[in-house]
Amino acid sequence: MVQIKCLATGSTGNCYILKSCNQTFILDAGCKWDKIVANVNLNEVDMAYISHEHKDHSLNYKELAFRGVKCFDGINTQDFVKNENLRAKQGQYSLYRVPIHHGKTNNCALIIENESDCILYATDFNLCEYDLSEFKFTHILVECNYLESMVGQIDKDSNDYFKVKRQINTHMGLEGLKIFLDSLDLSKCQEIDLIHMSQGYGDSITMGSSIYSRYRIITGVCKQEGGIEYYGS
Ligand SMILES: [Zn+2]
Ligand SMILES: [Zn+2]
Repeated sequence: MVQIKCLATGSTGNCYILKSCNQTFILDAGCKWDKIVANVNLNEVDMAYISHEHKDHSLNYKELAFRGVKCFDGINTQDFVKNENLRAKQGQYSLYRVPIHHGKTNNCALIIENESDCILYATDFNLCEYDLSEFKFTHILVECNYLESMVGQIDKDSNDYFKVKRQINTHMGLEGLKIFLDSLDLSKCQEIDLIHMSQGYGDSITMGSSIYSRYRIITGVCKQEGGIEYYGS
């Protein structure tokens, strides 16, 4: 059984706690340190992953490493990397780091595979060039940042336009996400959680119900200050 907890999501901070097969993982550590230690016992953590250097993901990277948590990152990785048979406190797991496009910033999606689950974590990207269709994902945490329909309404002469254009070029919108999800094997997928939603150009009901009705897989939308709202359960 997989347990996914969102402590924070979006441009102000990201941190998710994932439990699978009695293994505990921290995915990004961009929220307040106190919140992390209040929600997870660091002695039980098998691995922490920092996707890229932006502070909303990497804020507590050094602190975690300093406390002796085994850390991996997508910052110094520009090729597809497979780390096989890593020892967890219980059993083993494999990691795959998959480079994804996030403007000029190095960023990698992460795949964690153990005895019973295959989990994909992909945030802050507008494109994944790798074919991931060989993986039978059981759980997916993926960015759904904006609605193309909302962004399309912004006046080209407004101050917001330039900022939003940059956002579109480095983040994933709902329609882009459907194309990405369509390319994956979802036959074993039990849950899709949408993360890193924009506060200005996203809408959790539209996003959650649209993904649920397309795939008929329980869909969660992570909330900025923590927690997950579910659709279809
Ligand atoms: Zn971010
Ligand atoms: Zn970023």
